[in-house]
Amino acid sequence: MAGFLSSIYNKLANKAEIDWDELEADFVGADLGPKLSMLLVDELQDLGRKVSADDVVEAARQHIAQRLPADSPPPLPLSAGKPFTFLVVGVNGVGKTTSCAKLAHWLQGRGAPTVLAAADTFRAAATEQLERWGTRLGIPVVKGPPNSDPSSVCYNAHQQAITDGARYLICDTAGRLHTRHNLMEELAKIRRTLAKQDESAPHLTLLAVDATTGSNALEQAKVFHKASPLDGLIVTKMDGSGKGGIIVPIYEQLRIPPRFIGTGEEPEQFALFNKARFLEELI
Ligand code: GDP
Repeated sequence: MAGFLSSIYNKLANKAEIDWDELEADFVGADLGPKLSMLLVDELQDLGRKVSADDVVEAARQHIAQRLPADSPPPLPLSAGKPFTFLVVGVNGVGKTTSCAKLAHWLQGRGAPTVLAAADTFRAAATEQLERWGTRLGIPVVKGPPNSDPSSVCYNAHQQAITDGARYLICDTAGRLHTRHNLMEELAKIRRTLAKQDESAPHLTLLAVDATTGSNALEQAKVFHKASPLDGLIVTKMDGSGKGGIIVPIYEQLRIPPRFIGTGEEPEQFALFNKARFLEELI
């Protein structure tokens, strides 16, 4: 797995002299955002000595370390009969449904029975995909008829989680951003429905973002955060992409911390975000 600063490091390691404009553009290209990119270049230039590839990565590491929050604690189960409820949102294709399945598997692996709600009733394929995951991983999936009200699916899933004695409920939602208004209303209604059943639900609203899409992920975070306050990110496709820098501007601008990462298509390729590890693996 290549860290997201590997290509910058490798390029500089083979160069006699740094081209500062190019380095700034490369930082922006690594999704660190224009402000931090400029600051880093200014600081490195101010060192007033020959700057190595290691100096560059070290400076970036320090700034990223300062800007990212301490790791969030893992979501702990609530009292019996009160499922800890995740609402997972994001645009189609980022890996949202896969991440819901992986998260459920991760929680079940810790001994906590989990229920999945297929609340993307708009796309039959999304429900089928979640059902296939459920069968494969042994996790119950609650669904509704095609085009039914997603909030009623979440309501039924919440009821079933209580009946089954499940400790977690994960609601997978639709991601059709082209009809943004409807989607945002739909998410608001799901939130209201869940809150009627348990006033503290949803307990964690997570945005799935694709680490390889860079600044698009920041835009998506802004749009969803307005409609449905986000508590954290699931950063997908962190495997082999040499990406993930976007988490820095997302946290800086919106204070949404990375919570989980996806590192492949298999259910086990999922973990809590670990800041120390992220910083270690920049290159
Ligand atoms: P959704 O439309 O957002 O629900 O996206 P899906 O869950 O259907 O995933 C879209 C594609 O991304 C699928 O081919 C997944 O297997 C793939 N995918 C999801 N998460 C990851 C990941 O962490 N790494 C990689 N390499 N692929 C992933």
